[in-house]
Parts: sequence; structure tokens; C-alpha cells
Amino acid sequence: MLFGTIFRFIHVLGYSDNCKCFFCDGGLRNWEAGDDPWQEHARWFPQCGFLKMCKGEDYIQSIQDRLAEVWCLDCLAE
Ligand SMILES: [Zn+2]
Repeated sequence: MLFGTIFRFIHVLGYSDNCKCFFCDGGLRNWEAGDDPWQEHARWFPQCGFLKMCKGEDYIQSIQDRLAEVWCLDCLAE
């Protein structure tokens, strides 16, 4: 997948866990093995044009919805 390849490429260049999207310049930190670049990007930078173009609004919305659920559970726990 193109997007994953770009992140891996930046990773190889030595930015380690501090990756940047070439399109929207959105930085992703604290990168962990197994993290899905698309998912993380949809979470933090839902307005990215490249993300919208490749994954679509529905995908971004589903990530945002899931995130809202997590936050809700956090609220209930407190
Ligand atoms: Zn982006």
C-alpha cells in the first residue's frame, strides 16, 4: 500500500517513531509496531486530502465514531 510504504520509507530515513504525512504535513508520534498508519492518520488528521482520496469519508467517519465510543467509556469509568 502506497501510504504505508511512505511511512516506512520515512522510518528508514531515521525519523524513528516521529513520522510525517507528506500530503498534509501531519506528524504522528509514539509510533508502535502494528499500528495502522491509515487508522492513526484518520484519528488525528481526518481532514487530510490524501486520506480522503485513498480511504474515503466513510472510513474516516468509522474511525472517528470508534474513537468517540472509547472516550465515552472513559467518561463512564470516572
Ligand atoms: Zn495526511
